[in-house]
Amino acid sequence: MFFMLRLLAVCLTLAGAEACAAAATPPADLVVLDGRVYTASPERTMAEAFAVRDGHIVYVGSSAGARAYIGRHSQVKHLGGQLVLPGLVDSHVHPLDTVERDICDLKSEALSLKAISEHVAGCLRHYRLPEGAWLPVNLWNYTGGNQPDAAHPTLRAALDRASTKHRIVLLGNDGHHAAFNSLALADAKDGSGAVVGLSRATLAKEFAAFAYLAGVDAGGEPNGMVNETLQESILPAKLAGSDYEAVLRHPERVAGRMNEAGITAMLDADTPPESLPVYDELLARHLLSLRTTLAQFYDPEQHRRPDGSVDWEAMVDAARTVRAKYEGNPLVRADEVKLFADGVAEGDPYSMPPTLPNSPAIHPYLQPIFATGDNGRATVTGYVDTDSPLCIETRAALATLGGQAIAAFRETHGFHPAQCQVASGSLYHERAVMLEFVRRFHLAGFSVHIHAIGDAASRTAIDALIAARDADGNRATRDGLAHAQLVAPEDALRLGHEHLYVAFTYAWHVADAEYDTTIVPFFVKVHGNGYADMHPPGSYYDSAIYPVRRVLEAGARITGGSDAPVDTPDPRPFINIARAVTRATPGGEVLTRDQCIGIREAIDSYTIEGARAIGWDRVAGSLELGKSADFVIVSRDILKLAESGRASDIEKVHAQETWFQGKRVYLRPRSRVATPPASS
Ligand SMILES: [Zn+2]
Repeated sequence: MFFMLRLLAVCLTLAGAEACAAAATPPADLVVLDGRVYTASPERTMAEAFAVRDGHIVYVGSSAGARAYIGRHSQVKHLGGQLVLPGLVDSHVHPLDTVERDICDLKSEALSLKAISEHVAGCLRHYRLPEGAWLPVNLWNYTGGNQPDAAHPTLRAALDRASTKHRIVLLGNDGHHAAFNSLALADAKDGSGAVVGLSRATLAKEFAAFAYLAGVDAGGEPNGMVNETLQESILPAKLAGSDYEAVLRHPERVAGRMNEAGITAMLDADTPPESLPVYDELLARHLLSLRTTLAQFYDPEQHRRPDGSVDWEAMVDAARTVRAKYEGNPLVRADEVKLFADGVAEGDPYSMPPTLPNSPAIHPYLQPIFATGDNGRATVTGYVDTDSPLCIETRAALATLGGQAIAAFRETHGFHPAQCQVASGSLYHERAVMLEFVRRFHLAGFSVHIHAIGDAASRTAIDALIAARDADGNRATRDGLAHAQLVAPEDALRLGHEHLYVAFTYAWHVADAEYDTTIVPFFVKVHGNGYADMHPPGSYYDSAIYPVRRVLEAGARITGGSDAPVDTPDPRPFINIARAVTRATPGGEVLTRDQCIGIREAIDSYTIEGARAIGWDRVAGSLELGKSADFVIVSRDILKLAESGRASDIEKVHAQETWFQGKRVYLRPRSRVATPPASS
């Protein structure tokens, strides 16, 4: 000790600072040598080595330089050329819902209705539920599979075949879709809480305002598919929301799931006040081995006074209180809020009439006519001309048409008369409510994170953000969109001009003919159900779908968000990074090649840009002097894979070790490390 102090004293008096540093370098706790270290620094430098003391980076550079930090008690890691990245940042995830539970699960597989029915029947045998009990079924893929057959003509019929004595719900893997069997549909409650059931009759009366959210069969009876808020009339509250009790039984799994993927910072993209005790427990038990930003969630519709006005003060005060509670916390901040602009943009070709997307669209949705294609999947055979005299007349008479008249109409014209309707979807909230929400929270200093899917939702969200920033003059907040599935080209430029953030889930940015059939035909006139059919040259859909490169080049800040557990509870950052570069599943067709980004841009979006988006960039997001030693050792060199034209192989890459604040928080088990890359 005395010796060190004396050296320091000498240093202070000497001009040769460099010589001094070398002489006086106190040893580091950890020295990492002989690696390929991508620093994500402003110069985007590569380094060989770094040193860590008290959880912070004290040196980055050559291995020779790092050796000066090796002392008697230093841990030294030789990487043998392995790639190190800054700890990854998931800038849109629902971490408390990623903790796996013992629950019936379809794992997002594309299954026929028959296969779904058999799987659900198997779950009923496995869980031995009493009659009348609910069977929730997780991760139903509503855009893949679901092909009917004679014995399973609808979702409802398929679930009824599994059981008519239990209440069954398929929970869509996006959180917006659901499907029920008949016993469950019979539970539907009207606005006053009376059980009236969901049927052709109640869809016309009690639920008339929400009828567009229910799929129906040719006779007008619900076919089981129930979307968005209409689910709440059927689902018991305990099945509708997150299961915090289950999380608290295994609180270590929250950070465990993220660290296993290489993630050391995240945005909980939807944090209602009820979930805060979970974070408090994680903090109290020192189980939060990653930095977390909470996007607080308050639903203006739940804060309406009896006269219909929104109690803005109550919401903003509640959010301020939560923000203050975590002020200065080294691991949690709560200076962001979440708003949903809309729902989702997929329709259902298997409903009759096909359900339309419910996200708001700039142009009214087209009315495609579907048939069963040669491959057994829905295929587009034509379009309804909603401007035709037939449609104008039919629209006016629609409410009076009975079952026989509808059947006769279909026989004569080849489509359902309800397809004469002109619809553009809708925002979750009135436009004025959205604008006021953003204005109020922004004025209170919050960053605003808006879920936007439809092109009119993106447009309104951008309008709201720009108006709020113009009104209070504050452009230091980290405002932006999540998902940004459809953004008109002119709106992409506005995102860039305002330097807004966009959290993309790159894993979704792929062409998939089956998925595309549920959305493309409603936006542009297409024919068939193949890749080329769905992506004709010059298509508006292709100009608007996940415009990553366009917003980046325009000046927006892009980040990677998994949205887990949507599709899968695995936040899969390397699949996301791979598809940011390829916009394709391995071997699959490319979704709009001009929107691919480079590997460094993809990595930056998952590191420094992500950290900036969620407010931790001063302490994390890059491997630079003074920053937290959060890093991930990667199983294969993803820079080299991309540079050698094998970017799709990045999908098979994983975190081998994850370190947070200079401590290892994840080590991939040896058996898994040993898996040869070619077969994994
Ligand atoms: Zn989400």
